[in-house]
Order: sequence, then structure tokens, then C-alpha cells
Amino acid sequence: MFDTLSERLGGVFDRLRGRGALTEEDVNEALREVRVALIEADVALPVARSFVKKVKERAVGREVLKSVTPGQQVVKIVHDVLVETLGGGEGDHELNLNRPAPVPILMVGLQGSGKTTSTAKIALRLQKAEKKKVLMASLDTRRPAAMEQLAVLGEQAGVKTLPIVKGQSAVQIAKRAMEAAKLQGFDVVMLDTAGRLSIDEQLMAEVQEIHRTTDPAETLLVLDALTGQDAVQTAERFKERVPVTGVVLTRLDGDGRGGAALSMREVTGAPIKFAGVGEKIDALDVFDPERMAGRILG
Ligand code: GDP
Repeated sequence: MFDTLSERLGGVFDRLRGRGALTEEDVNEALREVRVALIEADVALPVARSFVKKVKERAVGREVLKSVTPGQQVVKIVHDVLVETLGGGEGDHELNLNRPAPVPILMVGLQGSGKTTSTAKIALRLQKAEKKKVLMASLDTRRPAAMEQLAVLGEQAGVKTLPIVKGQSAVQIAKRAMEAAKLQGFDVVMLDTAGRLSIDEQLMAEVQEIHRTTDPAETLLVLDALTGQDAVQTAERFKERVPVTGVVLTRLDGDGRGGAALSMREVTGAPIKFAGVGEKIDALDVFDPERMAGRILG
């Protein structure tokens, strides 16, 4: 088991009790512990480094409060910087549907990341909580099973899916979905793109082409939290090719430490909007930076 960051820092700072202010030396020693804890929580090294720098700027010269130990004080600063970094601006975690209907939302990511499940989860949420009429369409022309899966999820969730027509390209299906949605008065169209086991040029070119033709209001990248640094690399690659506007982090019900979330936020520059917390169709939370900071700190 890992020591929690609070425990690590407790030891470092016990001897500082009763001092006036945090010196650079005190802080440096604590920050070494912070860096180790972040890396153990699966935060990428460069991200951990730049994070620690931010904490340092805020901690050096701080008065040591009487009511808490210096360790607790640094933990609090680390917590605050984590929440700020994960959090982004106000309203950042909501979907931007500020467009004339039907509003396209593009779902991208690798196969197995939870993309199709998340598509249905978000569609259900929009229908239930926001009373939107949602149409879902699978653009995975290479895997008929993926199209079927979306249709089955749609039935479970009571969300309409675009009828499957064999022989159409992904772009053709996307256009058909938008036209059908316009004619039938849907508010939102969720486009579930094809995944791959790993990133390849063909996949990226297809995603780019779909993005260009549909001009989505949101491009949500689905990433599996349990894959840690691999998910961060996936994020890097997708971001090079399409303007990702938000991340859906799945499998947060698993026992990953969640540090990858911090790296993803830094790498994509896009806010994490939703957290997948189980296999069930309603197992989706709006991303909560406070809760994630707590998880990373241990
Ligand atoms: P896709 O290939 O990216 O479309 O992935 P799927 O949506 O088919 O999901 C792959 C598997 O992961 C399925 O068995 C899902 O039920 C499961 N899954 C998706 N999201 C979550 C999640 O947040 N938590 C857990 N535990 N399982 C999930």
C-alpha cells in the first residue's frame, strides 16, 4: 500500500512545529515527498514537476498557521492547486449546447475505452436531466457489433438510434443522422465514432473528416482511467488531430489512483466533463475536481 501524502508530509513537518514561516528548504523537502506521491498516483513526470513548481511558489514564505501543522498546511496548498488544475473555469464541466438544434456531439477514443457506453450514458442524461430529445448514431462501419451495441444500449436507455443502413461510409452516416434529426425535431445528435485498439493513421484521418463535415459543438475524448499513462499518450495523439473540447474519464469505479486525470487535463487543455463510474447505463457523474483531488492525495 502507498502512504498517503498527508502521512508522508506529517513526518517531514513534525520537526518544524512552532516555526514562524515556511522556508525554502522546508518546502523543498516536503515537495520531494509531494512529487513521489504524485508519481505513485500515476501522474506523468513532467506534469508532476510543473505541478510541484506551482505549489512551491505558493508555499515559500507562507506564515505557519498556529491551528494546523506545516504538513497539513502544505497538504492544503497541494489540494487547492490540484482542484484548480483539475477544475478549470466555471461552467467548464457542462456541455456546450449553445447552438441551433440539432447540436452534434462527437465521441472519440480507442476501442474498449468505454466510448459506446459513455455515448448512451450522456444521451440518457441529456434526455432525463435536461429534457433534450437525443438521437444516437454509430459511425463504426468496420464493426457491425459496435453498431448493434449502441442500438441495444439505446433500447435500454429509451434513447433513439439512427436505423442502420449497410454500405454507407462514416461521413455519410453522420450526414444522414444530422438530416434525420433536423426533420424529426431532435435537439442533440450523438455521433459515436469508430475505435481502434491503438491509434492509426486511417482512424485519425476518418475522425478528422467527420469533425470537419459535422462541425460538432463538443468533441469528447473518452479515456480509460485505469490505463494511466497510456491514456495520457492517447490524449496527446488525439489532440494533435482534432480539437478536443472535453474528456470523459471512464472506470473511475476501479482502483486507479486517478493521477492520470491531472496529466490529461494538462495534456489536452480540455476540462474533464464526466466520470464513468460503472457498467450500468446511469453510472455517470459530472466530474468533481474536489473528489478527484482527494483521491490523488490519498
Ligand atoms: P468502446 O469500445 O470504447 O465503445 O467501449 P464500450 O463502451 O463497449 O465499453 C467496454 C466495456 O467497458 C464494456 O463492458 C462496458 O460496460 C465497460 N465500461 C464502460 N465504462 C465503464 C465504467 O465507467 N466503469 C466500468 N466498470 N466499466 C465500464
